[in-house]
Amino acid sequence: MLICYIDESGTPDIPGNTSHYILAGVSIPVEKWKDCDRDIETLKTRVGLAHQEIHVAWMLRRYIEQTKISGFDSLDYQQRRYQVNAFRTTELLRLQRTKNKPLYKQTRKNYQQTDAYVHLTYDERKNFILNMARLVSGWGFARLFAECINKIYFDPNRAKQTIDEQAFEQVVSRFEQYLRSISPKAQSQDKTGDSTKNFGLLVHDNNQTVARKHTLLMKKFYRDGTLWTDLENIIETPLFVDSELTGMVQIADLCGYALRRYLENGEEELFDLLFKRADRKYDVVVGVRHFTEPSCVCKICRAHKKPTVI
Ligand SMILES: [Zn+2]
Repeated sequence: MLICYIDESGTPDIPGNTSHYILAGVSIPVEKWKDCDRDIETLKTRVGLAHQEIHVAWMLRRYIEQTKISGFDSLDYQQRRYQVNAFRTTELLRLQRTKNKPLYKQTRKNYQQTDAYVHLTYDERKNFILNMARLVSGWGFARLFAECINKIYFDPNRAKQTIDEQAFEQVVSRFEQYLRSISPKAQSQDKTGDSTKNFGLLVHDNNQTVARKHTLLMKKFYRDGTLWTDLENIIETPLFVDSELTGMVQIADLCGYALRRYLENGEEELFDLLFKRADRKYDVVVGVRHFTEPSCVCKICRAHKKPTVI
């Protein structure tokens, strides 16, 4: 059995504040789960992040107060945390006095989302994320599936589905194709029945917005009789887990982030490491798609096309 962890990056809203919406899934054989989780936890513990949830987008922001604390890099973790917290408390009190409620609320939210990471400098945080990507890159048993939608190209008037539906259907269908391709039955023409199938289980991040959305999408797919009727290998009940509880959902978050930052900003370092895990058939990438204008020559679009035989 294989587990596919699913997470999104960017917003499906049009236009929203990102040009791309990414839905990413990372599958691993169920028997590898414990090893993967332990390896992730080891990396986290090394930089004082044991049992903390890793949210890549929040982690890779610049924390302005760190630059305002003199000699920040030379302080130890505890001192850094103390200094940042002191700075942040002062700033929140100041904002409270200005009576600018939206700014106060936004700042407080930013502080909460980044609280676990403030003892690390920007370079240390970046290094840590790179090490996570290197780890995943080396997992020969893992596969990456993703639908990357360029929202500027997506025409809601012509499309039969919403961005959410298209992304979800694409990721699930590609996972199904992969499961079929690795079933012993498919490989050996052995018709012994279902016992030879590789079953797949979808696991979603249990954040309220995503969980609700995916539950509604699944209900719709069942009702309309589309998608699920064609699925032979995926177990119909989706599972939701708190990403705090499993490092693997955080890996799906990392993959979504890397794909989006590559497509929107041309950032290649994380992308190159993680794209190695994209599902391939005879060297052609079949697991990850960039939904955009046909003339696109990005690495995903190029990897989709069969190499020309000379
Ligand atoms: Zn492309």
